[in-house]
Amino acid sequence: MEPVMEPAVSSAAPVAPAAPSIVLPSSVPGWTNRFSEVWVPLDALCEALGIEMAAPPAAGNGPVELRTPHGPLLLYPGQAVARWNKIDLWLGFGLRRLQGLWRLHVLDAQKNLEPLLRPDPVPCVSSRTIVVDPGHGGADPGASNTVTGQWEKDYTLDWAQRLEPLLADQGWTVVLSRDEDVDCPLADRVRLNGDAQPDLFLSLHFNSAKGDPRSSGIETYCLTPTGMPSHVARENSDNLAAVFPNNAFDADNLRYAARLHECLVRASGAPDRGVRRARFMGVLRGQAQPAVLIEGGYLSNPDEARKIADPDYRQKLAEAVAEALDLRPPAQ
Ligand SMILES: [Zn+2]
Repeated sequence: MEPVMEPAVSSAAPVAPAAPSIVLPSSVPGWTNRFSEVWVPLDALCEALGIEMAAPPAAGNGPVELRTPHGPLLLYPGQAVARWNKIDLWLGFGLRRLQGLWRLHVLDAQKNLEPLLRPDPVPCVSSRTIVVDPGHGGADPGASNTVTGQWEKDYTLDWAQRLEPLLADQGWTVVLSRDEDVDCPLADRVRLNGDAQPDLFLSLHFNSAKGDPRSSGIETYCLTPTGMPSHVARENSDNLAAVFPNNAFDADNLRYAARLHECLVRASGAPDRGVRRARFMGVLRGQAQPAVLIEGGYLSNPDEARKIADPDYRQKLAEAVAEALDLRPPAQ
């Protein structure tokens, strides 16, 4: 368990009567607003991105469908959660009706839609380095399995060790942040990447919701882009104006997260709790390369806890991650 349980932003937030006051990331190197409005009308957005709207949206509560090369993107009025390419994607602001038009915030357009619409989600290469980070370890056991009493730290290590040979077979050079049950301070997990110079940092966790045995499913996190609200903040303040080193990789963070999440939800059959954003996770925000954190299920949910205790299920999770990260060029 890394983040807390329930989202800070309700998935059923009402339609805002007016645009909230938001800090645009004008201080972020390389960020430019190529739209003339902060709340971009959908027709202008579709034209700029080269996609189509399925039908003129009605004023009701039904979803607005945008047709993308990767499948339909369903936007729900007033809701932060969108449906894209078989997965739930948590937007920063969601669809709003303002001044008589359906609109998306420019940050949702540029930080969520544009990266996902690129024709090649992640470049195909034959050689890459990854740091796989099994969460917790040593005196920090993480969450406990409500059925077996086993610790998260052991499950995450097992998951990583199952994943390592699968990725190596695909040509990845794999570095584990720990390969035994030892303390691994956060600073070491981040510093390790300076040595390994990886192309991707992947942190593996399992979740827990104290006092809530019903929550279950998979969540995939990457760093919140500057200017957007996070979906989980825990007790931390969520400074929208913050700029972290990992924000330089906003686009690839999301592209990797979406691939990983889709494969994990499909392979596990677990509930889809969405690709989400957080900025309090120290293991992500200091990274100088794309970074993703996976919560592979709830140890506090008895049914899911039994599955996670099964080595075959953890093998399935490892194979799903490997499938998502299989970036080998197609065979000739
Ligand atoms: Zn954890």
